[in-house]
This record gives sequence, C-alpha cells and structure tokens, in this order.
Amino acid sequence: MEPVLRLGIQKEGRLSERSLEFIEACGIDYSRNKTRLKSTASNFPLEILYLRDDDIPKVVADGVADIGIVGENVVVEKQETVDIIERMGFSRCRLSIAVPANAPYLGPDSLNGKKIATSYPNLLREYLVGHGVLAEIHEISGSVEIAPSIGLADAICDIVSSGSTLMGNGLREAEVIFRSEAVLVGHRHLSPAKQEILNRLLFRIKAVSKAENHKYIVMNIPNEAIEEVTRLIPGMKSPTVTPLAEPGWSSLHSVLKEDTFWDVIEQLQAKGAQGILVIPIEKMIL
Ligand code: ATP
Ligand code: MG
Repeated sequence: MEPVLRLGIQKEGRLSERSLEFIEACGIDYSRNKTRLKSTASNFPLEILYLRDDDIPKVVADGVADIGIVGENVVVEKQETVDIIERMGFSRCRLSIAVPANAPYLGPDSLNGKKIATSYPNLLREYLVGHGVLAEIHEISGSVEIAPSIGLADAICDIVSSGSTLMGNGLREAEVIFRSEAVLVGHRHLSPAKQEILNRLLFRIKAVSKAENHKYIVMNIPNEAIEEVTRLIPGMKSPTVTPLAEPGWSSLHSVLKEDTFWDVIEQLQAKGAQGILVIPIEKMIL
C-alpha cells in the first residue's frame, strides 16, 4: 500500500475554513462529505481527519494523525509531545486575563486570593506561578465570559481578539498571558516515507505563505532613480528594468514584502516613481 500522510484539522470552528483554504492553495483536491469525518485527496497522498480542536495535539502525539493544524494556545495547553513544524499566520489571537470593568486592577498582585474561570488551566497556572500570584483556578469548558456576572468567578482567562465580547460582558482586559496563531504540528517520529510526503507538502505550504506575504510591483521611474529604487526593492534577485517608449523613463518590476509595503511605497514616490501597480502573487518559489 502506498504511504499516505494523515492531517488532522478542526471539524467546525474558527480554524476550519482557513485550514481547508490552505490545503486548496497547495493544489490539493479532495471532496468533502459533511457527515463523514475523513476525506481522501485525489491528487496527493493525503487524508484529512475532521476533529475537535482540543483533540488534535493528542491525536498527533499518538500518531493517529501524522500532522495537524491547531491554535498554538491549544498545543501549549494540552502539553502533548508534538513538534511545531510551521507557523501558519492565521487565527491570531491572545489569551488574556479579564476583570470586571468597574473593579480596581493594579497589576497581577490584584489577582491574589481571587477565583479565575478558564478553559486554559495550564497556561493560566504557569502565568500565576511565574508572577507569584496565589489564585484559585476554576476550569470550565465554555461560556467563560459570563462567569463573573453570574458569581462563578472574580475574573476570567480566555481568548480575545477584538475585545468586544469582553466589553459586552462588562469585563476589561487586564493581562495578556499568551499570543497565539494557528500552527502546523507533527508527530515526533514519522516514517521516512511519510516524512518525504510532508517535505513535499511543506514545499507547497512555504510557496503559498511566501506568496501571501509578498506583492508583485510594477512602476515607471525616471532612469536616474533606477539605482536607488533597486536598493529599495531588490526583489528575488534584482528587479527587471525595461525602457519605456518615452526617453529617460523605465518600467521597473520587482517583488515586495507585505509588512514593509506602505513605507516602501512612500519612499518610491519620493524618488519619482509613477503609475505604481501592486499585484497579488499566487505562488512563490525561490
Ligand atoms: P471545538 O468545537 O473544535 O473544540 P472551539 O470552540 O474550542 O472548537 P474555536 O472557537 O473554533 O474553538 O477556536 C479555535 C481556535 O481558533 C482557538 O483555539 C484559537 O487558537 C483561535 N481563535 C479563537 N478565537 C479567536 C478569535 N476571536 N480570533 C482569532 N482566532 C481565534
Ligand atoms: Mg475546542
């Protein structure tokens, strides 16, 4: 039998759609039957298992799945032995301690003697011990934000992205204790055949995430600016420069990193660049 790599992803929730989009961006076709818990790719040796996100670290640690996509918050909380292979760059969020908006809060010491509700007892304990705080951890699996208003706890420790859920429950963020994003995790000891499939998949994943973090940029520049602009946007090797029909001007093509994008655009304009086009890149292979 041909070896197949098994990937665990969240069945339904905040990670599901982006996880599947990523697989599709890697050029992998599969058909999904909503009632089934497994799909088999038709053009790559991959099986997809649909799981609760909480179960993914253990399933990968046990080798039932070879790899998985899950929030780093869950990986660290579950304390299972898995390797973090790649950071996925989506589902960014933070795990924070929040207190009633009207209660005084003067720093971690204010949590001494309090009862804190959370679904992340291990991460919270680590924070409290690290800050010398003695507080009671009350573990609940959902609806953590309402715990203070129903008298179940004095504070909470939960995932925050915008903070509007906290505000809606009369809470304010007091401490960020962990920053997370989706990660690709892997079983510690993959067979050489599975490792080879994983390497092929990683090659694609890297090409996709590189492409997502870069833009193709085309502009017209006065010839005297070519040298300086090349220094600003060296691209993958060096920019392509072709003369325009109008004397003294060239068209310059290059690749630019998303995170420096606006700074660089301003500098290009200052050097006399005009007609700047910015185009998404689908795949990028160095
Ligand atoms: P399951 O039913 O699979 O156990 P869940 O309810 O535990 O799902 P979700 O709410 O779908 O989990 O969140 C999954 C992961 O997405 C979280 O562990 C976290 O890494 C990330 N996440 C949660 N909330 C947000 C958010 N508001 N913004 C971005 N990412 C988030
Ligand atoms: Mg969960």
